[in-house]
Amino acid sequence: MAILVHLPSFMAVPITAALREAAPDITVWNGREAAVAEQVEAIIAWGLKPGVLPAYPKLRLVCAATAGVDKLLAAPDLPPGMPVTRIVDPGQQAGIAHYVLAMALRHTRALGRYAEQQRRGEWKRHPGRDVSRCRVGVLGLGEIGSEVARMFAAIGYPVSGWSRSAKHLPGVTDFTGDDGLDAMLAHSDILVCTLPLTPRTEGMLNRQTLSRLPKGAFLINVGRGEHVVEPDLVALIDEGHLAGAALDVFAKEPPSADDPVWNHPRIEATPHIAADPSYELVARQCIENLRRARDGRELLNQVDRQAGY
Ligand code: NDP
Repeated sequence: MAILVHLPSFMAVPITAALREAAPDITVWNGREAAVAEQVEAIIAWGLKPGVLPAYPKLRLVCAATAGVDKLLAAPDLPPGMPVTRIVDPGQQAGIAHYVLAMALRHTRALGRYAEQQRRGEWKRHPGRDVSRCRVGVLGLGEIGSEVARMFAAIGYPVSGWSRSAKHLPGVTDFTGDDGLDAMLAHSDILVCTLPLTPRTEGMLNRQTLSRLPKGAFLINVGRGEHVVEPDLVALIDEGHLAGAALDVFAKEPPSADDPVWNHPRIEATPHIAADPSYELVARQCIENLRRARDGRELLNQVDRQAGY
């Protein structure tokens, strides 16, 4: 059995070590240069350039190294029947929910405004805003979104969620479909995007949809940068319809030097750090899935390639 780790080195090094530790009987190559192409049965990757996959004739399995699979599914030479798996990590879900809550509380309690005042040497109190009056809408109630919604509800925010199928989570109002989206947007003072990037969700946060949010609403995006039409977002903030945004993901990472997010006073930008998966868990899930693929058993966390997530 042999696994190829095809990842940027900050992930490749710890994941390779975790694979070797967890399964000394499996051959693990870090990088294509070292690999014996005819022996590779599984590949762990984030994205795959054209020409990579056809080099491995014995490939049984493509494992995403994280929860999102948009870049892998975009590979033009991904064979039609090739199984793709993704990572489901409760620790990562909690970490993303913590990031989102931190940004939401900073907005709700106007902490950015107080930070600006501090730098001006200004001591001035403003009326406080209670979380119970700040309605949250979560786009995508999957593994990550449902944890985000649960944590918001636990500290008293009124929470709604939008997904393809109704979820019936305690304390979370369900919305589905186009009408449901419009209804949820109209009642979201904070909108959180935890959607996967698919042809249906790409560009869906645009002038038309973001204009449906109440005046003064705040956007938190931890899904993918391509969900947001960034010029529309920036324009709605500059026009005063939206209060601001916290963005962890961007269509181009890092954003280009002239991207307004670098200097915009109402946008918090972070370099895709909401939460990484546990590398030990990535290794264990990949090994387990390779064993299952060899035995013809059902895989863990297999992606629905038709749906795109
Ligand atoms: P899941 O597949 O578990 O959940 C996706 C959710 O989105 C589901 O509730 C699904 O609905 C819903 N959904 C998908 N398409 C549509 C649609 N067209 N209309 C309405 N709802 C839709 O994914 P995860 O929660 O595990 O991950 C979500 C995304 O988070 C990843 O794809 C990735 O892009 C991003 N991510 C970001 C990270 C970061 O550090 N910023 C780290 C990890 C992931 P249904 O349940 O009905 O199918």
